[in-house]
Order: sequence, then structure tokens, then C-alpha cells
Amino acid sequence: MARYTGPVCRQCRRENMKLFLKGDRCYTDKCAVERRNYAPGQHGQRRTKVSDYGTQLREKQRVKRTYGLQEKQFRSYFKKADRMKGVTGENLLVLLESRLDSMIYRLGFATSRNEARILVRHAHFLVNGRKVNIPSFLVRPGDIIELREKSRKVERINEALDGVMRRGVPSWVELDRQTFKGTVKTLPVRDEMTTPVFNERLIVELYSK
Ligand code: SF4
Repeated sequence: MARYTGPVCRQCRRENMKLFLKGDRCYTDKCAVERRNYAPGQHGQRRTKVSDYGTQLREKQRVKRTYGLQEKQFRSYFKKADRMKGVTGENLLVLLESRLDSMIYRLGFATSRNEARILVRHAHFLVNGRKVNIPSFLVRPGDIIELREKSRKVERINEALDGVMRRGVPSWVELDRQTFKGTVKTLPVRDEMTTPVFNERLIVELYSK
């Protein structure tokens, strides 16, 4: 699946918010949004009036970029969310959070979703005892995500885990640092998904036109 390979921080600056795409750097004062809090490019510092369409588009781009998806992939998640029972916007965010790469990031095995996606691709994880190397694999409540025996000495993963032990994991997952196992307790509910803050209603409005 194609993916964006350009400058990452530029995406945050374009969206005018921290999307936490670069791991630990995002929590330091080296963050580009902290340093240059305006849109990238020659006209980035100009004041512009944003239309309703523009606001909706930006919100969609924020979510899409946070989860590292391309338009086609993102739209297919939206269609799936629309077919589900409940509120479409919330369903969309729950689906995105249920991706294996997102869960790996939330459990702290990686410092960013991009890193999590690479680790999954390189088959470092088992889900319920079976090797899974598909980042878009959707996990379900009760699933157990485990780092493979051969990968437990990888320094980068251990550093990431030490970092998350300090920060804590979200309420919908549980991490056992000693056994390198994470459990999906439940799927997240909207109120628990607090970083970054999205207004998913605008995405529904955009795609309903
Ligand atoms: Fe770069 Fe992270 Fe800051 Fe975004 S939040 S600008 S990815 S350092």
C-alpha cells in the first residue's frame, strides 16, 4: 500500500496541530509546531479566510494523516463506519484505533504509528499466538498481542516500552511489560480518545456532500 514519504512535521504544520507522528521528538521543544506555528510554504504566514468546506477538509486530513492513511484507504474505512450501527464519526475513529499498528503504538511497543507499522510489517508480533504482519489487521476485544521471542532484545522496542511505562497506556489496553504481552480489554469509546482532539462530525459532513 502506498504511503506518504515526504517531510513528516510539515503535515502537522499544515494542519496547525500536533499529530504526534515522530515519537519522542513530539514531546520536546524541538517539535516543529512549537518552533514555527504557521503553515509551511512561501505563503504560510498569510492570513486566509477558511470556508466551511476548507474546515471540513482540514479535519479529514488531520485524521487521515494521524493514522498514516491514503485517501482511498481512508474512504473505505468511512464507508465501513457508515454501514455500522451507531454514530458514523465515532465508528470511524474506533475502526482506525482498532488497526493492529495503532494498537501496537498505544501499547507502547513503538513511539509512533509509522514505527509500529514497520514493526508489524517485519513480523515482530503475534496476535493470539499467530504471526500477523498486516498493519491494517483489525483487533477485537480480548485479543492478545505479543512480541515474538526473537524480538524481545530489540533495543528500540525496549526503549519505547520504558517510555510508555512512564507515560501510561490508554484505558482500553493493558500491557504486561515482563512478558511483552498486551491485551485489548475493550474497543475505545469516543470520550477516551483524547489525543489528538478531532471533530469527526466534520468528516461525516464532508463525505455526505
Ligand atoms: Fe513533528 Fe511530532 Fe511536532 Fe508533529 S508533533 S511537528 S511530527 S515533532
